[in-house]
Amino acid sequence: MKRIPEPFRIKMVEPIRMTTLADREEALKLAGYNPFALKSEDVYIDLLTDSGTGAMSESQWAGLMLGDEAYAGSRNYYHLKATVEEVFGYRDFVPTHQGRGAEQLLFPCLVEKMQRERGGSHPVFISNFHFDTTAAHVELSGAQAINLVDERAFDTESDFSWKGNIDLQKLEDCVCHYGVENIAAIIMTITCNSTGGQPVSMANLKAVYALGRQYRIPVVMDSARFCENAWFIKQREEGFQYKSIKEIVRQMFRYADMLTLSAKKDPMVNIGGLCAVRDDPVLFQAVQSRCVPLEGFVTYGGLAGRDMEALARGLFDGLDEDFLTYRIKQVEYLGSRLHDADVPVQWPPGGHAVFVDAKKLLPHIPPERFPAQALCNALYLEAGVRAVEIGSLLMGRDPVTNNQKPSPFEFMRLTIPRRVYTNDHMDYVADAVIAVARCARALKGLEFEYEPPVLRHFMAVMRPSL
Ligand SMILES: *Cc1c(COP(=O)(O)O)cnc(C)c1O
Repeated sequence: MKRIPEPFRIKMVEPIRMTTLADREEALKLAGYNPFALKSEDVYIDLLTDSGTGAMSESQWAGLMLGDEAYAGSRNYYHLKATVEEVFGYRDFVPTHQGRGAEQLLFPCLVEKMQRERGGSHPVFISNFHFDTTAAHVELSGAQAINLVDERAFDTESDFSWKGNIDLQKLEDCVCHYGVENIAAIIMTITCNSTGGQPVSMANLKAVYALGRQYRIPVVMDSARFCENAWFIKQREEGFQYKSIKEIVRQMFRYADMLTLSAKKDPMVNIGGLCAVRDDPVLFQAVQSRCVPLEGFVTYGGLAGRDMEALARGLFDGLDEDFLTYRIKQVEYLGSRLHDADVPVQWPPGGHAVFVDAKKLLPHIPPERFPAQALCNALYLEAGVRAVEIGSLLMGRDPVTNNQKPSPFEFMRLTIPRRVYTNDHMDYVADAVIAVARCARALKGLEFEYEPPVLRHFMAVMRPSL
């Protein structure tokens, strides 16, 4: 596969350090066999996440020097407000410290809105797939989180183009089953992180919004990777070849009533988020009221003025089509190298990461022994590359029954930070994954030494099982 050269020059470098196998064995043991607990300095190539790990552009760095740190009414807030309106078409917004900040403001307001307007009392949120913190905030607001992604997403060998789409029939059935009055919102995650950074088609977004309209159920866009989703629409969906990414984004957001955004992804800031509402002043007032005590006054929401400036500029950086082509092709290149070497991966690769199918690669390790986590640990030992588990460990336990929730997949996610690693780094990672895959059958599963009660994957302490 053709490699697309980096569409940028490197102006500043950050040295990274290679370690010995003995160093890594020691570090992994100290980390309780959980890559989240590794020190960054003990990692050579860090593919834990693409969140907040991107390299800012010269324009963003220059913007930091223009921070207006007034407590209220900073000019950077007004620049961000104008940018949000231009990019998404939404007038009302609050900045937040990151994506989950937006979630903690919005979801309880949506539950109240549901009770007030439709009289329901058993709140449910339906999504193509709730991201982990999104599901956590749904549950913290006293509601239930239901995932209805298209079944084809679970077959890593099917080359279906829209593995982020919600199953429209199931959505309709689910609304009837729980009752319109109990559906607090439909959350469309673009791209769908949990199924492999997979895109949602414009047709699917449009149909979901029509259903939301029909039943008066609000639609929330969980927008972390909205630019990557728009790029896939341009590439794959009939009628969008000649539209700009910006035009596609505007159309996507016409099919939602509000958005939450982790700006640490496509807008390439190290910290930041947004919650924006299109046309619902009552709801927006409720969001603002929660913003003040939880995030900060409504014109900064937990961000410094300079952070808001970098975010406003990053929203445009993320929309650059040449950058997006390079970015997504870099991910595809890594995916293709693994695919060509018969390493099972979610196919076609998504926008921000390559997802290795540990269920297929390590069939001898059962889900409750966390095969994908075992694979991440083996990759770290092999080459100092840090990946992350997206499977049973992440899925956690059912809050009611306390049983392990069944996970439809066991993935090792190789997440590619934006503008940080070169194509040569991708070759290094591919060689290492292929080497580990060749002796996958010898790997052992893991068990808990300490299992935290919520979002357990972050702080778990584990040991190899016998
Ligand atoms: C990262 C992410 C979030 C949460 O955002 P944070 O900035 O990590 O708090 C929510 N939804 C999706 C789809 C994400 O990828």
